[in-house]
Amino acid sequence: AEELLRQSEKLSVVGQLAAGIAHEIRNPLTSLVGFLQLIRSAPPQKRLEYADIMLAELNRINGIVNEFMLISKPQSSKIEVKNISDIISNVVSLLQPQALLHNVEIQFESIEDTVYRVKGDEGQLKQVFINLLKNSLEAMPTGGKIDIVLQRLGKRRISIRLKDNGVGVAEELLPRLGDPFFTTKEEGTGLGLMVCCRIIEAHQGSIRIQSKVGEGTAIEIELPCVL
Ligand code: ADP
Ligand code: MG
Repeated sequence: AEELLRQSEKLSVVGQLAAGIAHEIRNPLTSLVGFLQLIRSAPPQKRLEYADIMLAELNRINGIVNEFMLISKPQSSKIEVKNISDIISNVVSLLQPQALLHNVEIQFESIEDTVYRVKGDEGQLKQVFINLLKNSLEAMPTGGKIDIVLQRLGKRRISIRLKDNGVGVAEELLPRLGDPFFTTKEEGTGLGLMVCCRIIEAHQGSIRIQSKVGEGTAIEIELPCVL
């Protein structure tokens, strides 16, 4: 039943997204056609500028298609009991090179000296932390710090708090985070947080975002844990 539920949930996301995808791709395509026409008669110094804009539009289309394929790929979800600390450490090591490159320090600590076991799909849970850490890295163009804290919340629940000191999000935009295609980035897809929310929901968890412009962003995830 769990698997069926998961599949139908996935199907509805894919269906919902398909219409949006067509729409989202049409805009950059229209702009590409426009700039291609312009570039034919543009002076040489303008051509470079147009080429850069076109490249950004193409990267955006590429990003949307890639994320869509990730979401719609019929991956067999494997439900296992896993140590959540291992999953997070794994993702942190995976993104360490990128963090170094961006001058960002990632710190991960578990408050209690206990193993927290979570029932779920390891690949999907990893995807959540990859998406969140990538957002934090992108929010800190001149470097900074990301703190991840794992902690117990009552008997059967844990909290994972991920805090960065990046650019933050304006208060009026907070409610739109996680909406499909909502992005403030030139080459963003606006699908990362939506995927995170879907995955955490499917794991009977919750996700909350707090943010302040110029100070940073904190994301708190709650998940059930098994004894
Ligand atoms: P994308 O990263 O492609 O823009 P996401 O769904 O991952 O799409 O994020 C949506 C938007 O939420 C981002 O464009 C950004 O404005 C905001 N956001 C998400 N995480 C952070 C963060 N850690 N710091 C600042 N802004 C963030
Ligand atoms: Mg993102």
